[in-house]
Amino acid sequence: MEKLALLYEYQQSDAKLEAFEKKLKNTATRKQLIKLQDYLKKQQVLLKDMEKKAMVDQNSLSEIDAQHAKMTKMLGKKHKDISEYEKVEAQELDFNVVKGLVSEYETTYENIVKQKRKAVAVEKKADDTEKKLKEILSHVSKVQKDFALLKKKHAEELHAGAGELDKLKKASEAAAKKVDADLLKRYKRIKQNKPKPVALLSDGRCMGCNMDLPSSALAKIKKMGAIVECENCGRILYMK
Ligand SMILES: [Zn+2]
Repeated sequence: MEKLALLYEYQQSDAKLEAFEKKLKNTATRKQLIKLQDYLKKQQVLLKDMEKKAMVDQNSLSEIDAQHAKMTKMLGKKHKDISEYEKVEAQELDFNVVKGLVSEYETTYENIVKQKRKAVAVEKKADDTEKKLKEILSHVSKVQKDFALLKKKHAEELHAGAGELDKLKKASEAAAKKVDADLLKRYKRIKQNKPKPVALLSDGRCMGCNMDLPSSALAKIKKMGAIVECENCGRILYMK
């Protein structure tokens, strides 16, 4: 058989193999798998971010707690100062000192109330974050289950196609062996840019790119054994 006819035959089986591989890779199951994988990755990022936020909330809560304890102690001391002063005889009482003591007591008390309010707000935020975290985790675990099922289904699909895939691979390998080694190299080089490196020649036209060929090229092709590439698209031309 002619060199080019063998190459064309190889291209046919190569194309069949590639089409089948593509079909195996593009099932609805696999597409869904990829979608779920993307979703899970995004959720992982979100979860990490929320965990960080929860930690920040926890830190500010403990800081507020520490402040609260310090101020409560201070309030106790102010209270004691006032009690001490209450023992002083009425005629010795200094109005300004009493005013000062009461004002310090009030300021400390107000600060404690402020701290308390802050603590309540942070606690609410922390609760919300935790609620959201729980919701996400429960959804993620559901998606993880779906993912595992789909993965199994996809493995089954691949398994079911394995026989046919093997058959097509063997046919393609057998066809490749019949092709002249240099010609096969040329084919593979062109294939890096064109999926089908061999184009049929019909009515003096390259069927790969639809360009008419100059008569000099046509004359060359008609000579047995001459291998010509299309001047326009670079495919190897083959006339049946
Ligand atoms: Zn062409």
